Amino acid sequence: MKVKFWGVRGSIPTPGKETVRYGGNTSCIGLDADDGTVVIFEAGTGIRTLGLKLAGMPSVEIHLFLSHTHWDHIHGFPFFVPAYIPNRVIRIYGPPHFDKSLQQIMAQQMVYSYFPVNSDELQARIKYVDLKEETVEIGGLKITSKLMNHPVTCYAYRVTEGAKSMVYTGDNEPYYNFMASAAMDETEVDEITMIVKEQNDRNIEFVKDCDLLIADAQYTDAEYPTKVGWGHSSNLQVLDLAMKAGAKELVMFHHEPTRSDDQIDEIVKQTREYYAATGHSGIKKISAAVEGEEIII
Ligand SMILES: [Zn+2]
Ligand SMILES: [Zn+2]
Repeated sequence: MKVKFWGVRGSIPTPGKETVRYGGNTSCIGLDADDGTVVIFEAGTGIRTLGLKLAGMPSVEIHLFLSHTHWDHIHGFPFFVPAYIPNRVIRIYGPPHFDKSLQQIMAQQMVYSYFPVNSDELQARIKYVDLKEETVEIGGLKITSKLMNHPVTCYAYRVTEGAKSMVYTGDNEPYYNFMASAAMDETEVDEITMIVKEQNDRNIEFVKDCDLLIADAQYTDAEYPTKVGWGHSSNLQVLDLAMKAGAKELVMFHHEPTRSDDQIDEIVKQTREYYAATGHSGIKKISAAVEGEEIII
């Protein structure tokens, strides 16, 4: 399968000369399976240019997976040209949120107060699929969703084709014991610590032995203590996940919007140095996602 980054930025687009090398568009990852199946993860602003390419491939059915529906993961969708092409088939998969279906949530950003086209006026044949933790089979692909730790329901996805697999974490922070500082006795704290460990172990199991891990690494380890509970990981947290899970390649994703290209270079350097010092050797490549780059596994 071939993965291509169309948008790598977290939170908000960041155009400008400081971000031009890694790219300023928000999350969007294209995946072309060996059997021709077309999958997209996320509808951040990067999906606009991917849509222009797909508009020229009319017979291809499009499978769009959303980790969650925070703006930076859906705000490119109103500009996704295939959605305006009559009879074009698009399937959109993602989490519902309490009483609202995925379709209802997506429709809310396309009402006339915000956008000149209502979602009912899109001419493509759009089918919405509310996902639980489950596996969807599309052509030769198996795509499994797993709940992650973020302030809204958010899924990671594991894609398997033959012997190859890749995992995309969506927005995610490792589970932690946020109760520990409250007035609790030691036994209760220990019980919660055990639950937290089990949740993190489930995430390691989900990532286990994948060929490629694309992980939300919005923060540095130095920044993380002031961002606890915001739903994102640090560079060393995702390195730890990749090491424990035996991932063969780690790509840091969802870059902090205030981060310049030079700062991202520095984070990659630090992460590689830290990894080299561990003596571990299973990860063959560590990088930060670059808009426009492709990875074949
Ligand atoms: Zn995000
Ligand atoms: Zn989010």
